Amino acid sequence: MTCDVLIVGGGPAGSTCAWRLRQAGLDVMVVDLATFPRDKVCAGWITPQVVTELCLDTQAYARRRTFQPIIGFRVGLIGRHRETAVTYDGPVSFGIRRCEFDHYLLQRADARLALGAPISTIRKDRGQWIVNDAIRAPMLIGAGGSGCPVARMLNGVMRGRPLVVAREAESRIAAADCESLAIEPDVPELFFCRDLQGYGWCVRKGEYLNVGLGRLDPRSLPAATARFVAFLEARKKIPPRFPWPWRGHAYAVNAAPRRRIVDAGALLVGDAAGVADSQSGEGIRQAVESGLLAAQTIVEADGLFSRDRLDPYAARLEARCAGASLSGALARIVPDRVKTVVAGRLLEAPSFVRHVVLDRWFLHRQQLALGR
Ligand SMILES: Cc1cc2nc3c(=O)[nH]c(=O)nc-3n(C[C@H](O)[C@H](O)[C@H](O)COP(=O)(O)OP(=O)(O)OC[C@H]3O[C@@H](n4cnc5c(N)ncnc54)[C@H](O)[C@@H]3O)c2cc1C
Repeated sequence: MTCDVLIVGGGPAGSTCAWRLRQAGLDVMVVDLATFPRDKVCAGWITPQVVTELCLDTQAYARRRTFQPIIGFRVGLIGRHRETAVTYDGPVSFGIRRCEFDHYLLQRADARLALGAPISTIRKDRGQWIVNDAIRAPMLIGAGGSGCPVARMLNGVMRGRPLVVAREAESRIAAADCESLAIEPDVPELFFCRDLQGYGWCVRKGEYLNVGLGRLDPRSLPAATARFVAFLEARKKIPPRFPWPWRGHAYAVNAAPRRRIVDAGALLVGDAAGVADSQSGEGIRQAVESGLLAAQTIVEADGLFSRDRLDPYAARLEARCAGASLSGALARIVPDRVKTVVAGRLLEAPSFVRHVVLDRWFLHRQQLALGR
């Protein structure tokens, strides 16, 4: 089989890139080891920039799928009983389910699909990539998430990059039980760890409840999750002794040392490029934006995929995703013994929570959707 562009991975990064390339008239094939619909470990929260960039018809989307408008957040510290609620005039985010969202995007992309097909070999022959000894293409996109085989081919095994390790569970809760919980569907809750090395969330999307915790320290994750669950149960945010189907995942956030994301005839997008936000762990927007920027660069390269014609992608992505990790910096400069006190005070200040934690770290409200 041959195609113009072969994309490895059909998550938001791969499907967005495929969608835009198909609109430009290219012959695109997406290979994924999973069959769709497939689920992905995720809280399932997207920002308005994603909706705009994907030209999502939200009414049509919501007709048969979960699409929960979010108008605010409650923010606190794990173990403390005081929370700060911040609400906005309209939706500032949306809750989706990845098994539905990713499937919808991949179908809409209108690319040729090879699903349930893991990548076993990638080699180059006279300027063309040959994947699994079966598919030949001049341009290869690595969109295979944190374990992407194309990223491994370009970078080997990367060490020394900060990894977010996370546990997450999503379950349907009977409507009556949901109503008795102290959690509103349009105001999800975020609770920071006392050492500021991560945070947990509790998000209600219609009849689904999603809980999880992400940290920069893998060893303490199981104990930290157990403490978080006990805290949520005590606050009646989740049902007691519920059999949560826990799943774990680790992924790189946008930080040095950077990955090589461009080579002759090859680009990396999404988690394969390691561009998730270092403050919030948000990665869907970055997956979508890197997919769009990659497609733009490929279309402009006009069939000549040398490294210098693809290099503008790296500069565009760097300009879009740049930004220092303020909460990380805060965690480093505040001494351990006063961290909980400082964090507790800051998280009780509504203006800090609204303007710094939410507007800057989580929602990036100062950043317009790509192309606006
Ligand atoms: C617990 C947790 C919660 C999160 N919550 C949020 C959130 O609420 N909002 C948000 O914006 N981000 C969130 N993220 C981050 C977000 O999930 C990722 O950044 C995003 O999924 C990246 O999209 P992607 O398309 O790059 O990769 P993925 O969504 O991981 O897709 C990669 C695809 O590649 C396929 N693949 C992998 N290996 C191969 C192979 N060898 N051959 C073929 N196919 C392969 C996989 O099957 C998969 O379909 C969260 C992450 C975690 C771990």
